[in-house]
Amino acid sequence: MSTTGTNGTTRKALVIGGGIAGPVMALALRRAGIEPVVFEAYPASAEGIGGTFMIAPNGLGALAVVGLEAEAGRIGQPVGAMVIEDGKGGVLAEFARLADLPPGRLMRRAELYEVLQRRLRETGVEVRYGKRLVGAEEGPDGITARFADGTSATGDLLIGADGTGSTVRTLIDPAAPAARYTGLLGVGGYSSYRLPGRAGRGESVHFANGARAFFGYWGLTDGSGTAWFSNIPQPEPLDPEEVRAVGAAEWLRRCRELHSDDLPAREVLRVADAATMEVFPRLEIMPSVPHWYRGRMVLVGDSVHAPSNSSGQGASLAVESAVELARCLRDLPGHTAAFAAYEAMRRPRVEKIAADAARTNSQKSSGPVGRMVFRLVAPIAVRTFMSPEKTLRPVHGYRIDWDRRVAPVSSGAAVTGP
Ligand SMILES: Cc1cc2nc3c(=O)[nH]c(=O)nc-3n(C[C@H](O)[C@H](O)[C@H](O)COP(=O)(O)OP(=O)(O)OC[C@H]3O[C@@H](n4cnc5c(N)ncnc54)[C@H](O)[C@@H]3O)c2cc1C
Repeated sequence: MSTTGTNGTTRKALVIGGGIAGPVMALALRRAGIEPVVFEAYPASAEGIGGTFMIAPNGLGALAVVGLEAEAGRIGQPVGAMVIEDGKGGVLAEFARLADLPPGRLMRRAELYEVLQRRLRETGVEVRYGKRLVGAEEGPDGITARFADGTSATGDLLIGADGTGSTVRTLIDPAAPAARYTGLLGVGGYSSYRLPGRAGRGESVHFANGARAFFGYWGLTDGSGTAWFSNIPQPEPLDPEEVRAVGAAEWLRRCRELHSDDLPAREVLRVADAATMEVFPRLEIMPSVPHWYRGRMVLVGDSVHAPSNSSGQGASLAVESAVELARCLRDLPGHTAAFAAYEAMRRPRVEKIAADAARTNSQKSSGPVGRMVFRLVAPIAVRTFMSPEKTLRPVHGYRIDWDRRVAPVSSGAAVTGP
């Protein structure tokens, strides 16, 4: 960890949101010589909450910059080959992992969250809970954040790491788009079903467009069974209360019905444990956000780029952006130049990944004809224009060079706030 220092004008940053992007932002700011304070709306630390997500090789690279390579590499289990199936157990296509990159890791969100919280404590970063941001006022020398409990805090910058429902996004631009519902709800959990072969050893992750819903599964490396998820078409979004009222046992019954013609989904679900299930009422994506920053406010993570879960990149891009924003603040004179360079660096990448994932998502909610076309086209596509080198390399192979200085964007390339 060699390069530190600040742009001379930013000393203290208010980071709104203590989920995944917020803590990584705080750790990266520290490394850049800027003092962060994290403000989280939840009244207390949220250990144990959330289902499973993947941190891809590029996300692990970003975590390594903030000194979490070893910790992140110990949680969850490695991701081997990705196998696309026809819903009857037949293989349509396979993406071998890129052997020269460390494997991505499937982990419970709570595991990464706990690692981040521990590191914040160890490094003495201040985290204040029960602080829901409701407004902000900017002056010539700083910005004051106002919280729902009537308190306020002042700093040089305000960074919105406050997720898809971001308040900072609307403070930057009241006309900013809201997160969009994908027409799918997510259900996932664990089953004692033992898959045969390499799948059972956790060496491959499987995705199947079933007869009525999309199914994903992988064997647990400790041999205890199978992790699974289902993306269920649901035209109107349900609210969290409705989802809770249905209850886990009923959600499991619905999954069994939806996947009754699919293999191995039917077998996995037959012995699935309702007590391990998580239901996400609405899978959401962020449409392109016109303004990533204004004045002393800027967005990072899901608040500005949440691709569909089909990308497997939501958390990885969030941590990448946090580290890159810190680099820009370290190297460029003044926050405006730093924000412009940050947006110019990040927008093309995150929007390309989001657009690619949106295509996969429309496939998930397509009808029987769309599914049949997919079955015919997938094997040819993977052999030709969708090879792992062409599709995975640009996404998974991205590495942040922390020590390289960020150049200002030229006036032609500059992306400005409103
Ligand atoms: C409880 C929870 C569980 C999740 N579980 C999964 C999962 O199982 N699988 C998956 O793929 N993704 C999950 N996600 C989303 C995933 O964490 C993100 O897609 C990704 O990691 C990017 O993280 P983020 O920090 O940008 O957003 P988030 O992880 O959503 O974090 C945003 C944080 O900001 C806080 N916040 C929001 N508004 C305010 C405000 N006004 N003032 C202060 N704080 C505010 C939120 O409470 C939250 O802690 C979950 C998110 C949350 C909040």
